[in-house]
Amino acid sequence: MTGYIKVRKAAEHNLKGIDVDIPRDRLIVVTGPSGSGKSTLVLDTIFAEGQRRYVESLSSYARRFLGRLDKPKVEKITGLPPAISIEQKGRTKNPRSTVATSTEIQDYLRLLYANIGVPHCVECGRPMEQLTAESAARLLLDENGGQHIHILAPIVQGETGNHVEILDGLHKNGFVRVRADGEVKDIDEVDLDARKKHDIDVVVDRLELSQKNRERLIGSLETALETGDGRAIVSRDGVDDLTFAEQLMCPKCGKQYNKLGAKAFSYNRPDGACPVCNGLGVTMALDPDLVINDENMTVHDISRRINGSERKWWNERLVALGALQGFTLETPYKELTQKQRDVLVWGKPAISLSYTTVNENSTWEITRKWHGLIPWLQRVFDKGSSSDKQWYQWWARRIANEFSRKSTCEVCNGRKLKPESLAVTVAGQPIDEISSLTIKEASHFFEDITLTEREHKIADLVLKEIRARLNFMLSVGLDYLNLDRLSMTLSGGESQRIRLATQIGSALTGVLYCLDEPSIGLHARDIGKLIETFYHLRSLGNTVIVIEHDRDTIEAADHIIDLGPLAGVNGGELVAEGPPEKVLA
Ligand SMILES: [Zn+2]
Ligand SMILES: [Zn+2]
Repeated sequence: MTGYIKVRKAAEHNLKGIDVDIPRDRLIVVTGPSGSGKSTLVLDTIFAEGQRRYVESLSSYARRFLGRLDKPKVEKITGLPPAISIEQKGRTKNPRSTVATSTEIQDYLRLLYANIGVPHCVECGRPMEQLTAESAARLLLDENGGQHIHILAPIVQGETGNHVEILDGLHKNGFVRVRADGEVKDIDEVDLDARKKHDIDVVVDRLELSQKNRERLIGSLETALETGDGRAIVSRDGVDDLTFAEQLMCPKCGKQYNKLGAKAFSYNRPDGACPVCNGLGVTMALDPDLVINDENMTVHDISRRINGSERKWWNERLVALGALQGFTLETPYKELTQKQRDVLVWGKPAISLSYTTVNENSTWEITRKWHGLIPWLQRVFDKGSSSDKQWYQWWARRIANEFSRKSTCEVCNGRKLKPESLAVTVAGQPIDEISSLTIKEASHFFEDITLTEREHKIADLVLKEIRARLNFMLSVGLDYLNLDRLSMTLSGGESQRIRLATQIGSALTGVLYCLDEPSIGLHARDIGKLIETFYHLRSLGNTVIVIEHDRDTIEAADHIIDLGPLAGVNGGELVAEGPPEKVLA
């Protein structure tokens, strides 16, 4: 769509009631001295009005949550498309967000690994094999011969009902016999008690196990796996059933597990997190030397250090313990014997305490087991890390920060994912290796990647998305960033350009983009690439308004709006407007 965004009598902040006509589907640069009113015009007037109209268009229910936005001081704006502002700092402050997650590259990586990743045995490192009808047939023929077998597909397992509809459906699909509660019969003859639980397996074939039946065996197993939702049963007279599941199996150690889904490649999810460190990559161990960090501390000092303050019931317990073990609150730790220390610190051996406490007007007899300082702290920590009560959370944080040493998790080696997920590779690389590459390295990896034809078929779309995002980031000069770099640690210019890359990825059209000095922090050689990005957005049918001082960007604009002449009250006027050849002449 062409035409103009017409702004009439814009008077927000220092703007002097100016009129501007902004051509749509063009690159517009708004320039002028600092404080002349550039962001007041672009962000506080044009973008703000776009936002306000968007909110007004929502249901009253949604508006209640968003609140009403004030109308900017402007007489009218016509021809305004939906507006998106790409600010320097994002609104989301998710501490776990990384370059890869904020650009959706991480999501696509997970899809890639779930779909074409090669799983390896976590015991012996061999590639796992997906059980197929063919490998099941090979196993059966290798180990058996001559018997007659039934090939069945499990349909109903321990469910109440007469299952008439299911049986009808099987019949319509050409099946004739089923095994109902262990008995093979014609489907017509099945009459199940609707109030009881039943098992139903459908009979796919009955045949003799022999090489001459090999093809038929494979075909029937295939049908059974399809009908039984990935499971097939082979029943032989006098022996237990064999169940084959379409899952992964190590050809050497026989270890089996289900194919991993995309969630298994996220350490923020229980499906993917290392079970020992819960996806943190570090484990935490309480260290007595951090609790008793000075040998001269008295037992009383230790109580105060643990609690962060004087705590009566702790002191009472320690007095009672000391009375039995031969120390007082004022005994320095260094004067305690090893035996006394073991009881105090570790609760070894466990000791039962009985003492009296006076609480306001009442007296209580208390009997408690003494567990030891460290076991007590450990219990409070375990409770606190899974509790939503603030008091427990406060304790858990203190214990983690003050009394514990963090060490790299020994199960995942700090890699955060569970071993099965880490054992899946694409082009020989596990997912965490890829996530830690720089954008430049990752882009080489995905350009050079060689896949089989089957893998290409499955993964081409996903690869296209990954490559597009990497290329956009390369094109705006972010080649040096690591994919696992935390978003919080990015500079304003970097995060703005990443968000720009994400926008291009989403390929919106008919949108107004507002950007505030995106060239900040960018090397001169990369400014050309940034301008290319604006042109790309424009070619998709979008209007791009950029606040900018950079000369190259100004010259690249289709239309320039120059505000000034000076800052503050001496600014806010339209100095010049038009194409570069007119304004810059
Ligand atoms: Zn193995
Ligand atoms: Zn771990």
